[in-house]
Amino acid sequence: MNIDELFDRARQMDQADPLGKYRHSFDGLSEDLIYLDGNSLGPLPAQTAKLVHENVNDNWSKGLIRSWNADWYDLPMRLGDQLAPLVGADSGEVCFADSVTINLIKLAASALKNQSDRPKILTDSLNFPSDYYAVESLIGMLGNRHTLEKVYTRDGITVTTEDMVNAIDEKTAVVTLSNVVFKSGFMHDLKSICHAARKNGALTLIDLSHSVGSVPIKLKDWGVDMAVGCSYKYLNGGPGAPAFLYVREGLQDVLEPQLAGWFGTRDPFEFNPHHEPASSIRKFMVGTPPILSMQAIEPGIQLLKDAGIEQLREKSIRQSSLLLELYDTLLEPVGFKLGSPRDPSIRGSHIAFKHGEAFRINNTMISPPSGKPIVIPDFRTPDNLRIGIAPLFLGYEEIVRAVVRMHEIVANNEYGIFSHEAEAFT
Ligand SMILES: *Cc1c(COP(=O)(O)O)cnc(C)c1O
Repeated sequence: MNIDELFDRARQMDQADPLGKYRHSFDGLSEDLIYLDGNSLGPLPAQTAKLVHENVNDNWSKGLIRSWNADWYDLPMRLGDQLAPLVGADSGEVCFADSVTINLIKLAASALKNQSDRPKILTDSLNFPSDYYAVESLIGMLGNRHTLEKVYTRDGITVTTEDMVNAIDEKTAVVTLSNVVFKSGFMHDLKSICHAARKNGALTLIDLSHSVGSVPIKLKDWGVDMAVGCSYKYLNGGPGAPAFLYVREGLQDVLEPQLAGWFGTRDPFEFNPHHEPASSIRKFMVGTPPILSMQAIEPGIQLLKDAGIEQLREKSIRQSSLLLELYDTLLEPVGFKLGSPRDPSIRGSHIAFKHGEAFRINNTMISPPSGKPIVIPDFRTPDNLRIGIAPLFLGYEEIVRAVVRMHEIVANNEYGIFSHEAEAFT
């Protein structure tokens, strides 16, 4: 495939792209910076910058404590209701609170309490490490009466549904997985897994961090019991934006919060010395939510809903097909290997390429010599260069330019001048 032809085709695709206009809804994106890390930290919606300013200057500065009643107290649920259609949930099934890890510990604790005669927690070997730490720490807190079992990947990229389903048995209390796994982008068949879990009496707890806002999610349809997810990745909620949690309606009355605090009670301002859990999803809240960063989440959700998740998914698949075509032509010949599934039906919206020098290639892309575009992907140890496709703002031509740059860096050994030392946050 000829590169000029690819550039021409990509430009035509950009021109015909019905979602192309959304790029202008973000601040900070420019011609000479190609941002391929929207799956790790989404860019700033212009509307968010305005809203944060208003919230500080009107609601906090002038409204003072009155703003709790006017706007703040219900914010975690209201925002949850706004997100609900994006994850295939109903109103009243989602609320924003804490971080993903904390929510995972909270919901896993409630699930284990409910499943007290079952000792096994099941996950896979491709899950996000913090999810392991969360479960392992909970096992310790509960007196080491449970075990965390992992279903192992056979190819380093995927876990077969058959292996997952076969590992679920009558000893399994909870099955916890990432919908889309953070390194390879592999996407589980949650409908089949949740069905097997339900048949065996196990509860499911799914981490949506890498899927929310990038693939259509059907929590109710798939039969997911509980879920948690991140709002600073494809939702563009801002660094450290609070996470969300989902508990399916029929389970909300059954599960008891195990980490209790005043914001999870029926009425925090009753100051009841005994914890009486709210009779809604609110019962899984603990303390005062970070209002300012929670308010900043809304414009990002709104943009995704305006664009439409099905349309975004369609564009993401087109863009990743283009990326894979470019990989075959330009990257494979210079030593990259594909670290993600080729089949889009089992892949989320990011693609990993493996290379022995991935770390230094990544740094060269981010800090190029003058005249070259800055390209920001991310590096995931030991050898993954992750390309996040966030179709809400990414263009087709940008993908071609990024791959041409990757090819050039390796073909000319440009990364040779970079060291092997890592920054604190990559
Ligand atoms: C980003 C991410 C998280 C983030 O967890 P926090 O506790 O909110 O920092 C959790 N799980 C997965 C799979 C992620 O990708």
